[in-house]
Parts: sequence; C-alpha cells; structure tokens
Amino acid sequence: MNIQAMEAARGGGLSRREAMGLLGAGVLSATALGQGATATAPAAPASAPEAERIAFENSGVYRRRVGSIEVFAIDDGSSFMDGSPFPLWGSDAGKEKVDAALRRDLLPTLGTRFYFQVTLIRAAGMTVLVDLGNGTGQGPAGGKLMARLAQIGVRPEQIDAVVLSHLHPDHLGGLRVGGGVSGALAFDKAKYYLHKAEHDFWTRAGVADIKGQIPDAFKDNMLKGAKGVLEGIKGKVELIDGVHQLGGGVRIEPLPGHTPGHCVVRVDGTSERLLVMADAVHHSSLSFRDPSMRVEFDVDPAEGATRRAAFVKQAADDGTLCLGYHMPFPAIGRVARDGDGYRWVPEGWRW
Ligand SMILES: [Zn+2]
Repeated sequence: MNIQAMEAARGGGLSRREAMGLLGAGVLSATALGQGATATAPAAPASAPEAERIAFENSGVYRRRVGSIEVFAIDDGSSFMDGSPFPLWGSDAGKEKVDAALRRDLLPTLGTRFYFQVTLIRAAGMTVLVDLGNGTGQGPAGGKLMARLAQIGVRPEQIDAVVLSHLHPDHLGGLRVGGGVSGALAFDKAKYYLHKAEHDFWTRAGVADIKGQIPDAFKDNMLKGAKGVLEGIKGKVELIDGVHQLGGGVRIEPLPGHTPGHCVVRVDGTSERLLVMADAVHHSSLSFRDPSMRVEFDVDPAEGATRRAAFVKQAADDGTLCLGYHMPFPAIGRVARDGDGYRWVPEGWRW
C-alpha cells in the first residue's frame, strides 16, 4: 500500500486533531508514570516534549517468542485518513458493503487509521529486519524505527539482513539515514533480500503498468521511489527467485498479488511458527470481511483480489499465526471464518 498517495488522493493526512491526540496520550502516560514513581521518590513534572519521549520509549515494541526464535513487532508510527476508505477499497463491491464491513468491526465509516509495523527477527545468531517503515518523511507520526531499535538495544550495524517484502514507499522510507532519498544507508552492514520479479517490475515499469485507480503523479512518485531504493542497495542486494532459506528457521517466500514480487517471511521456531505476512492483507477489517474486494493500491487490483482471497482462506484453514505490516500494533493474530467472510483475531499479549 502507498500511504502517501492514499492520503494525498483523499486530501487526508495527520490532522491537527490527531496530532494533538498523540501529544495528549503522551502527557497522560507520563502522568501515570510520575504517579507510580512517587512511591519511592517525588517525580518532577515532565515537559510536553519530554512526556511524549517517555511515552514513546515505553511503548511501540512487542516481543513474541516463536519457539526458539525471538520476533519483535516494532511500531513505526501510524497515520490517519479523513473520509471513507471507499473507493480506494471496494470500488467493485460498493460503498454500502465497505461501510457494512467497517460497522461489523465497530470501526468508523469515516476516518481510517493506518498502522505500520516493522518486524525484527533474532534467530541462530542472526538479526533480520523485514521492511523499513516510512522513514522520517511522514511527519511526527512515522519513522520511529531507529528509536525503537535503540530502545531494545539493537544497533544499526547489528542488522545482518533486511528483507524488502516489496517496493512500496511505506515499506522503504527508512532505507537511508535521515529518511531522505540520498545519503548513507541506515543499515549499511546488512545484506538486502528482494524478489527478482519485484526488482524487474520496478526497473522496467512505467505509469501504465500500475493498474490501480490512483493519480498518475503518485504512480510516478512510486516508480521514482522504487528506482531510488534499487540504486541505494546496488551491490548489497541478493535477488531471490522462489523460496529462499535465510537459515535458523527463517525463510523468505514469494506471495505475489499486491505487487508482482511481493514476499512474506516464514519463521519456524520448531515448537511454533509465525508468518510475517507483510501486505498480503492491508486492513484489519476490509481485507478479511471480503478479501476479494478490489484495492486500488494493488499493482494489478484484479490479480491482487484473487490472490488475497486465496491467502486469507488458507490462513483461516491452517490457523496460521500471522504478523501483518498494516494490522494494529502489535499486529499478531489469526484469521477466523465469520459468516460469508473472515475476521482478524488479534492475539492477546503475552507478558
Ligand atoms: Zn504497505
């Protein structure tokens, strides 16, 4: 999914109200922390920026052991779109169906929050990142990956491998230090993994090859962004073709649909397994209630819908434990059948 294009297309973005909401949440958490601390020592009231810093330092990273493997969901931030997700979602199904799905999940029909979760995997002495977040280019609500890694004591040079699930900008913004389009790579010791089909598509594609109903200017930006990333990782990227074993129970698997070379990462901790499903689905309600609903951010919406429907059915049949890039934090759960469709069932936190 391309959040920048979506927000611009809908005239949305992080509203002042939303930004204030974030600040408010920060102050509230800091107050609670301060009260807890008074049992041993009086806590000085934190300034608003300091309160926000404290709040973020105490949230946004969740560790889930998967057998012998450690998996971290890392919240890179979220953004907000005013208005209805229709027709970016469900232009073929109709607004009524989109609204009905949202209502069934007790979500507002106007206004959508988007979530961005990077995954960190530690297995057999190897540290792997799956995707890189929005980078700092998305304003105050995005680009938290580097700070979150510091929170859990992971230095950028300790990242051995970066798996790029696909080349959409909301997964790549964190590629470079500072989040810009040029400059040093944020993880310059890492080897990058990308499917050959994804590399080839974005290398050769023009605006007409991106078939969803989004403005050409955004398609053009998407193309430029993807090409910039390919330039940045030149000499450091391994193009995979088919299933690729990273080792330690971690493997990359092609799951085309959202884009031609979209990949997922399967984590096998022997006693338990988890699927980092990236953008196999993009919305915690709409992608499940009717996974065959057209989504304009799929490179080929017809193909995307067919593949997504097959994926969701399979995940429900198998009871697969999944971590989704666009699911609400900590983004780990399973798919259940519900009526004619399915629903996303978040897993309870494990302390
Ligand atoms: Zn996405």
